[in-house]
Amino acid sequence: MFAKAVAVSLLTLASAQVFAAECSVTVDSTDQMKYTTNEFTVDKSCKEFTVKLTHSGALAKNVMGHNLVISKTADMQAIATEGMSQGLDKDYIKADDARIIAHTKMIGASEKEDSVTFDTSKLEAGGDYGFFCSFPGHIAMMKGKVIVK
Ligand code: ZN
Repeated sequence: MFAKAVAVSLLTLASAQVFAAECSVTVDSTDQMKYTTNEFTVDKSCKEFTVKLTHSGALAKNVMGHNLVISKTADMQAIATEGMSQGLDKDYIKADDARIIAHTKMIGASEKEDSVTFDTSKLEAGGDYGFFCSFPGHIAMMKGKVIVK
């Protein structure tokens, strides 16, 4: 508990110091099969960028699981379709899929949150990127835009 509090205050301090560029984003997901964020911006002046996914619903991972996968917009549907057959224990993601830039774990209400940090050199400024949930069928509702500048 103490360590967590320290980590949080350090994070607050760090983000105050690099006011020019926000190097992280928190995206919430719900039992209504939605993200509460439609788009976020990755600033290439950040060396690394962290995406935190939270689940504010009450449903379990096998019923209303959500993850957050980042890829080129053009690859999103294929990654989701191929991930479908992988099953929940693989988070509906094909292992070592080179098209995936970053992804969180699949979470349900009891897992509450997961974060992923990636190197911003994987993204090109002005490129066409997006994020989505790879749980079967969720991409229809759960997708958004990643702006890279
Ligand atoms: Zn989902």
